[in-house]
Amino acid sequence: MQLETVAIRAAADRLAERLTAHRRAIHRRPELGYQEHATAAYVESMLDDLAVAHRRVIGTGVVALLPGAGSRSVGVRADMDALPVPEAPGRDGYRSEFEGLSHACGHDGHVAVLLGLAELLASVDDLPLTVALYFQPAEEGPGGGQPMVAAGVLDDPRPEAVLALHVASAHPSGTVAIRTGPSSGSNDTIAITVHGVGGHAAHPDTALDPVPIAAQIVTGVQQLVTREIDPVQPVVVTFGSIHGGHRDNVIASSVTLTGTIRAVHQHNRELLNRRVPELAHGIAAAHRATVTVDLECGYPVGVNDPELTQVVAAAAAAVLGDERVMRVPEPSLGSEDFYAFGETGLPVSMFQLGVADPARGITAPHHSPDFNLDEAALPAGVAVFAETIRRLEQAG
Ligand SMILES: [Zn+2]
Ligand SMILES: [Zn+2]
Repeated sequence: MQLETVAIRAAADRLAERLTAHRRAIHRRPELGYQEHATAAYVESMLDDLAVAHRRVIGTGVVALLPGAGSRSVGVRADMDALPVPEAPGRDGYRSEFEGLSHACGHDGHVAVLLGLAELLASVDDLPLTVALYFQPAEEGPGGGQPMVAAGVLDDPRPEAVLALHVASAHPSGTVAIRTGPSSGSNDTIAITVHGVGGHAAHPDTALDPVPIAAQIVTGVQQLVTREIDPVQPVVVTFGSIHGGHRDNVIASSVTLTGTIRAVHQHNRELLNRRVPELAHGIAAAHRATVTVDLECGYPVGVNDPELTQVVAAAAAAVLGDERVMRVPEPSLGSEDFYAFGETGLPVSMFQLGVADPARGITAPHHSPDFNLDEAALPAGVAVFAETIRRLEQAG
């Protein structure tokens, strides 16, 4: 076929049954990060059937290449991992066969769309651009995007842009929701241990109680968030755990707080990663205690390149209709491993593909045991990617 809008729509629609079959095959065998052996093997066997060249990276990652004329190339990424979430009953014929695991984030749909895109592009006569497909492990943790980049998947060929989608149970099936610029949060993990001196609860003067110091750190950080960050730029610091002591009448010798620091602008991420430890040290010092701080940087800020996102939005409107493309008004502090592909300076863009079907009860949030997706939405994902690639070629 030729790569043109009407043909793309028709070709994607013709893939509907195959996409459902791919999705269900992957759905039955959900695997956690870096254990995506069955999933990667399935991807490889489907690529073999299409005579599409591929190679393994970082254990369970797969990179497929559809060579095009000329030297330009574009990358498209799908994450493959599942979650330790037991699947709710129902769903005849394609339940998770692995106890306690399920595709509760819809990555099975992402893999299916990328395989569908491979099939569609493999049927194009004289593909204008080389298209690299990145089947990525471990998005839910510990992260596969940065390791794939470090393994050189963006080196040869060097794509001029990388695209991705995430299915979204918050949006109606077959619609696209997209946002330009800062879109999702960085995700850095902090552990702060306040070191005091244990003792008798009745004699705090002979001890150094870390509990009230830890409490001041928790509240002090929230003050930092409201007083040192531009209030129209979203950030969040959440302490998800606080542990110290073991009984009512004993002063603890230490307290450990663990939390997540998130921002959608890199300058705020850097500010918080500097100031939260400074504040913890300062509060502890004011009370004669010390702290140790461990800060681990996770996924980067998620920024959808404005020009590239414009192309994706126009492509979506062309293949789905204007009324099916929605702008996302605000960023989310959720984080997304995909943006590791943009850390080297490449323009990247991710859109959301609506998969909700309230009439069939498909509305449950991601990561819940009831999460499901309307498979009828999957061809739209293939069509948007293919049309975007066509438009990028024309823009070059
Ligand atoms: Zn998820
Ligand atoms: Zn996800």
